[in-house]
Parts: sequence; structure tokens; C-alpha cells
Amino acid sequence: MDPCENCGGEDHRSDACPVPRCYTCLKLGHIARVCPDQICRNCHQRGHEARDCKDMKP
Ligand SMILES: [Zn+2]
Ligand SMILES: [Zn+2]
Ligand SMILES: [Zn+2]
Repeated sequence: MDPCENCGGEDHRSDACPVPRCYTCLKLGHIARVCPDQICRNCHQRGHEARDCKDMKP
């Protein structure tokens, strides 16, 4: 069996991979929702989404 394309594990395929992969930074182990490298479209600071932005104006 080929190793998992996602995490390189050899005991499963990528479509059954238990390791989350972030599509924002492409790192393993977390999802984009909680990505520490994501950039807020509202205040352009790192670490949160625009919907979670504390600087959001009403
Ligand atoms: Zn995997
Ligand atoms: Zn990430
Ligand atoms: Zn923000």
C-alpha cells in the first residue's frame, strides 16, 4: 500500500486519514478554522477569522 498522501502514514490511505490538514497553511494537525497562520480579512492580523474578529465594527 502506498503511504498516505496527507500525513505519510503507511497504515491508511489519504481518504481515511485521521490527521487533520489545514488548507490555509497546508500544515498537519489542525484545521483552517483554528489555524494560527490564518489572516483576518477584517483587521489583517494573524490567528483568527474575520467572523471571530474583535475589531469588527457594527
Ligand atoms: Zn494520513
Ligand atoms: Zn493552518
Ligand atoms: Zn481581525
